[in-house]
Amino acid sequence: MEVDKMDENDWKYHGEGNKSLVVSHLSRVLRLLKYPAEDSENPPQTPEQAFRQLQNIVDFCSNVMSRLLGEEFIHSGEVVKLPLEFVRQLSIKVQHHRPVWRCDKVMDIYSGCALCLPNLTSPLLHQPTHTPPLCIEIKPKCGFLPSSKLVSKEVKTKVCRFCMHQHYKVANGKWKRRSLYCPLDLFSGNRQRMHFAIRHLIEEPQNNFKIFKGGQCIYSSKEGSDDSPDLNSLLHHLRPYVMHGNNRINSHMTGKAVLNDFIQVLVNALLSSRGGDAGVVTDRRGEGRSACEASLFNKERIRHGQHLPDISVLSRILQTQMLDTLDIEGLYPLYRRVEQHLQEYPKESLPGDAVHQYCVAMTAKDCSIMVSLVPCTEEEEEDDEGPPAFSHSVSILDLDPKPFDSIPRQLRLDQKIVSFYTKTGGSVP
Ligand code: ATP
Ligand code: MG
Ligand code: ZN
Ligand code: MG
Repeated sequence: MEVDKMDENDWKYHGEGNKSLVVSHLSRVLRLLKYPAEDSENPPQTPEQAFRQLQNIVDFCSNVMSRLLGEEFIHSGEVVKLPLEFVRQLSIKVQHHRPVWRCDKVMDIYSGCALCLPNLTSPLLHQPTHTPPLCIEIKPKCGFLPSSKLVSKEVKTKVCRFCMHQHYKVANGKWKRRSLYCPLDLFSGNRQRMHFAIRHLIEEPQNNFKIFKGGQCIYSSKEGSDDSPDLNSLLHHLRPYVMHGNNRINSHMTGKAVLNDFIQVLVNALLSSRGGDAGVVTDRRGEGRSACEASLFNKERIRHGQHLPDISVLSRILQTQMLDTLDIEGLYPLYRRVEQHLQEYPKESLPGDAVHQYCVAMTAKDCSIMVSLVPCTEEEEEDDEGPPAFSHSVSILDLDPKPFDSIPRQLRLDQKIVSFYTKTGGSVP
C-alpha cells in the first residue's frame, strides 16, 4: 500500500467494535483505534504509544494466538503510518455511517497509524465469479462451563456465562430482547445443536452475528432499535445462493428451506478445516458439562459421540478458551499477588503465568470467526442433490491482547451477572 497516495474517497466505512473502527477498500481494511469521546481533544496516548499498542497487537497475534489457534486461520496484518490529513478527512467521511450508539467513542485522528489487514469479506480475495462471496461473522463467546473448584456459585457450573449475561443485558436496556443463542450448542460439534444455535444467532444477532455479501454488511442487529433485523430481506439475498446449489428444479423453496440449507452449509464449514477433511474426532470434555441448562435445545436429542473435530476452527478456539482453568474467582487472588509483587519490583514486567494464561483465554472468548462461502460453479458441482455446494475459507479475527489490569473489572462484572441471574432465577422471559 502506498501510504503517501492515500485518498479518503477510496475508503468506505466497514464496521466497528468497542475498540476499533474499520474502513475498507477492495482487498484491504484499515483498523483504526478509538478513544472515549471526552478524550477527543486530548488523546489518551502519544503517537508513539499508539504505534506501540498496534505493534503489540500484531506481535501478540502472530506469536501467541496464531500458535494456539493455528496460523492457517490468522492474519496478523501490519502497522501502517498514514498521512494525518488523510485520517482527518476519513474520520469526517465515515462519521455519518456510524451507528449512533457507538459514538461515545471517536476515531483516533492523532496518531496517524492503523492496522492494515486483508479484507476478509472482499470479493477480490476469491476467484472472480458471477456471484459475490457470502461472509458470515460469528462472535461465539465462551463455549464451556467452568469446572474450577474455586467457583463459589453452583449456578456457574450449570448455566453458561453468555446465557446469564443475556438476562443482565436485557434488564439493563442494552438489548431489547434476549438472544436464545447458547455458545455451548455452537461448540458442541453436534450438527443439530449447532443448527439450533445458528438459527438463534440469525433471529437475534446482537453483536454476535453479521452477514456480508460482496464486502457489504447485509444483515446485523441494530442496537437500541425495537425492530428485529429484516429476515425477509435476508432470505431474498440467500435464495439465489441456495437455489443455485440445489439445481433449478427446486424453484419453490420455502423461506424455511432456504434458511435450513444456508445453516447446513455454515455448519459444514465450521466443522471442517480449511481445505481438508474433518479429521479425528475426540472428546476432550466431561460429557456432563457440555450442555447449558438455560439452552432451550431439547436435551434428550443430544446424542453421545458427536464432538468437534480436533482441527476445526471451533475446537481450536474452545481449547484456547479453556486455558482459563481457574475461573476469574480463582484467578483474582493470584492477580492480586502478582500486582503486589509488581508494586514492590516495578522493573519486572512478567505478569505471572496463570494471569497471562487467563488473558490469552479472554482473547479467545472475545474473538470472531469469519466464514467465507463462494458458490461452486456448475462444472465443479458433483451432484444436483443435497445441500448446495460452496467452497469455503475460515478465519479468526479480533485477537487483541486483553489488558492485565482489566481483571478486577472482570471479577466485578462476573459477580453482578451471577447475582442478578440468581435473584431473578433466570425466569425473565
Ligand atoms: P470488539 O468490540 O468485538 O472487541 P473491536 O473493536 O476489537 O471489536 P474488530 O472486531 O476487530 O474490532 O472489528 C470490528 C468489525 O470490523 C468486525 O466485527 C468486522 O465486522 C470488521 N472487520 C474487522 N477486521 C476485518 C477484516 N480483516 N476483514 C473484514 N472485516 C473486518
Ligand atoms: Mg470484534
Ligand atoms: Zn448457555
Ligand atoms: Mg476486540
